[in-house]
Amino acid sequence: MSHPSDSRAGTDVGDDRSREAEPPSSYHAPVLEARVVASDTGRGLFALQPIDEGTLLVAWGGVVVDENTLSHLPGSRKRLSIQIEDELYLVVSREGPADYVNHSCEPNAGLSGQINLVAMRSIRRGEEITYDYAMGDGSSYDEFDCGCGARSCRKRITGRDWEIAELQRRYRGYFSPYLERRIRAKRLGLPSSPEIRLT
Ligand SMILES: [Zn+2]
Repeated sequence: MSHPSDSRAGTDVGDDRSREAEPPSSYHAPVLEARVVASDTGRGLFALQPIDEGTLLVAWGGVVVDENTLSHLPGSRKRLSIQIEDELYLVVSREGPADYVNHSCEPNAGLSGQINLVAMRSIRRGEEITYDYAMGDGSSYDEFDCGCGARSCRKRITGRDWEIAELQRRYRGYFSPYLERRIRAKRLGLPSSPEIRLT
């Protein structure tokens, strides 16, 4: 039996208390805070102060898993993950505010690389931070009906939304690198030619 209250001696990093002291696996800017929202997801990330365009908002961390491993995870963990390559996903290991960024069809943030989220425009105090999951998702692991309320709402969010020409124009430079690669290949009429070969 473990007795966390008297196990101060030693260097056991697996100790319960040291796990409790671990920070969330992702970073969020200090000007952001998680709040309860009236949506399916329950929570959202909000700006406490005005934020300039280009500001780094979130850097997600966690565990990288392949498609097969992801498919065996419960839905609650799949929802707290992001696709980072054709067949790789980053799954949160220790949940925190950065994991509550909701989708919007008219977002104020976009991806910079695979794991960073930046402000696409200036953001007002009190605004919810959102990005369009079309910028990161290239498979069907997290498809859902959207009720974001935006005038341009697509109603259904799928893993093929990155193929929509209008979104490619609107989010140019804000897609995950593996989707930028796919978009470029399509534009050139080439088969998808990954720079990173997984097998
Ligand atoms: Zn929507």
